[in-house]
Amino acid sequence: MNATVAHVRSYKGSMDRAVYCGRPGPYGNPFGGKYVPRAEAISAFRNWFLADAQRALRDQAVRECTGKILLCWCAPLPCHVDVIAEYVNFMWLQSLGPILAHPHASPES
Ligand SMILES: [Zn+2]
Repeated sequence: MNATVAHVRSYKGSMDRAVYCGRPGPYGNPFGGKYVPRAEAISAFRNWFLADAQRALRDQAVRECTGKILLCWCAPLPCHVDVIAEYVNFMWLQSLGPILAHPHASPES
């Protein structure tokens, strides 16, 4: 199941289905801030998040964020949470190995 991104204020659903990804918290962007251009903050986060040193955090994200609604203060503007969503969605697709091997197969078949 894909993770999606939503604004923390516009999300009215249960926190069982959502993960807060802003600051403070393990998924907050350490490179963000009022005076950092958005694209720069996202690119810095991407490099940091995908580095070897963040393997444990990525594994945690796969466990906690897969299939969830990821909440931040930015949506619908792009932000670092898109990087987290892309990563966990990619890992989720990879876990469906046979479907990638047979792209025309459906999960039910
Ligand atoms: Zn954000």
